[in-house]
Amino acid sequence: MKVLIATANAHKVEEIREILAGFPLELCDLRDFPAVEPPDETGLTYAENALLKAVFYSKHTGLPALSDDSGLEVDALDGAPGLYSARFGGHDMPHSQKILRVLELLDQQPEKARTARFRCCCTLVNPDTGQTWSEEATCEGTIALRPNGMLGFGYDPIFQVDSLRTMAELSAEEKHAISHRGKSLRGLLSQIYPHLSTGRT
Ligand code: IMP
Repeated sequence: MKVLIATANAHKVEEIREILAGFPLELCDLRDFPAVEPPDETGLTYAENALLKAVFYSKHTGLPALSDDSGLEVDALDGAPGLYSARFGGHDMPHSQKILRVLELLDQQPEKARTARFRCCCTLVNPDTGQTWSEEATCEGTIALRPNGMLGFGYDPIFQVDSLRTMAELSAEEKHAISHRGKSLRGLLSQIYPHLSTGRT
């Protein structure tokens, strides 16, 4: 099956390609469709935004489209930045500064009050049949006291996955094995291809 990776975020494209490398899919991405402008993300949930994006891109390209809507939820901030993670502090604010803003907001919070999770909803829409598949998944962690690590993207340098490492200190393979995106995509693919093993990517 030919599938369009329907996200304008180059980091997500790279991760989705890595996670899906073992599946029988012919992947392309939005670089093949430079004239298609991204839709406004007006949904009130990850699932709504993921569906909106997959429907939009499948309609504009005629291809089955796979979208990803995701974010970082910090419990002490009532789930912020959450759905608005990419827009937190303004779309143009670099993640290095978004990260500092999260750390400032959590200033003085002890380790046990710094629980957080990444959440991701991936959705696939097949425009030929009208079928849609969707899977939401999370990755639990805590917000580190300061950024650490150079790998990954976005909020990875402050997302502590265990007592030693942030998400930005994991190899791509280690991240995908536990990440919200890895779990969501493997779950989605196991709905579509129940006969395939989705244990490893
Ligand atoms: P979306 O494009 O509206 O889904 O926003 C996703 C945003 O959530 C990204 O721009 C990051 O700020 C954050 N995010 C999602 N997944 C990750 C991840 O794997 N690592 C770090 N940040 C992430």
